[in-house]
Amino acid sequence: MRLSSLRPVWLVGLLAAALLSGCITDDPPEPQDLIEPFVDPMAFLEGHDHADYAQHDLSWNMDGVGWSDLDRLPVAWGELDTHPDHDIGLVAFAWPTAGFATVDLSDPADPKPLDIVDLGIGYGADVKWSPDGEWAVLAIQAHSHRGLPSVPGVGGVPDPLAMTAESGIELFHITEEGVIHDIDAWTPAPNSGVHMVYTHRIADRDYVFTAWNGRGVGVFELKVDDPPIGARLVPVNTVLMWDEARAIAAPRSGGFSGAHDMTVIDDPILDKPLLYVAHGYEGLFVFDLSDPHDPLWPDFPLGHWKDTDNAWYMHTVQAEVLEDGTRHIVLAPEVFSDAEAEVIAPLWILDGTDLGDIELVGTWKNPGDHGAEQLRYSVHNFQLVNGRIALAHYHGGVWLLDVETVNGNTTVTPVGYHLPANDPGRAMSGIYHGVYNMGDAPTVWDVVVHKGVVWATDVNSGLYAIAAPGWNPGDGAIQSLG
Ligand SMILES: [Zn+2]
Repeated sequence: MRLSSLRPVWLVGLLAAALLSGCITDDPPEPQDLIEPFVDPMAFLEGHDHADYAQHDLSWNMDGVGWSDLDRLPVAWGELDTHPDHDIGLVAFAWPTAGFATVDLSDPADPKPLDIVDLGIGYGADVKWSPDGEWAVLAIQAHSHRGLPSVPGVGGVPDPLAMTAESGIELFHITEEGVIHDIDAWTPAPNSGVHMVYTHRIADRDYVFTAWNGRGVGVFELKVDDPPIGARLVPVNTVLMWDEARAIAAPRSGGFSGAHDMTVIDDPILDKPLLYVAHGYEGLFVFDLSDPHDPLWPDFPLGHWKDTDNAWYMHTVQAEVLEDGTRHIVLAPEVFSDAEAEVIAPLWILDGTDLGDIELVGTWKNPGDHGAEQLRYSVHNFQLVNGRIALAHYHGGVWLLDVETVNGNTTVTPVGYHLPANDPGRAMSGIYHGVYNMGDAPTVWDVVVHKGVVWATDVNSGLYAIAAPGWNPGDGAIQSLG
């Protein structure tokens, strides 16, 4: 734990520990050398003002090392992506319209905004680099949920009036200087748009995967004939897995489901790419993606898992194969509805070594067992990097969790947290402050790990670089999937 006034004590302690160990480098402490007592950041300040940054300046074994207020633009910052081949970050904004900024991350102590594009429509739900790190894909959806301005009063159900032909995905070329050029768009028939995107290279061809609101996963090929002008997005396949009857019957669902997010990983066990889909109330699905153009693969998932006792909304999934050949899948729901205020949002560790028999082997929940209070303390996006999870926990900040399996027992242990809580000196982001208890100070939307640094976005105050115990800034081996 640290408040600002205690920071010098922490630093002196760290320096003393380094000297005692005979080490006088700038290396962050190893997990076994953690020196700070744990304090629950969600319980630390009883009756505090969630909107006051000064009351949320808390860290444990992690430290903010850089911040950009992203020019204090009056938007709600959300999704973040980096690429291992360079240091330009992409930061999307979700409100009041869709767009994103490029940011120079080469000096974590001083991230610098480079360029910005605002489409003037919709909701910028996600942004991703192409596999070659030269293109950006932006997901655009309609403001279709409760409280958002285009459909006031709609309760979590997509409103046909809010659906727009402008929603879909947009392709941009990014120069080496971070300058953004708008190249191509794909807009399906009127619908509520694309929520999440992912990109991956398979057999020397580049693909864009889209989680389509209320439906499944759309697959596109990114074709670059004569860069940058000749690039285009070509639809190649669709995974329609939405079971309308079951989705409407699901408790707390409001009848609204569909794929939420997906990850593609080159699997070293099967020696083929696998598509992992966090499919809302339908659970987790895993597909063989050897040939994205094969019309049959969407009909035959290799694996499926859901918590049969509870109707969780599956939000994010990543996977990793350990040195011993175990395939770990980490899956997180999002907890947001009025009925779920007391529900404690979990992260699940699944053993997916046998995809035909995926087993739950570990669960993590916030140490104080705080209910989600809609989105306030829900888990959100995370990255799985070398057996460690970097988690965006909304008002709970950024958490770092180590996953270990010893003699068949899997444990998930927190090794640090940091609340990125620099006061941006501007008003909270309009409608987002208060919707689903979102927009507190801070509200951490996304996290990525780039070259040993944890980067995180706060909805209101911008982009943060955070040092993690045991990770060295500049280490290219410590890089998340995004
Ligand atoms: Zn608070």
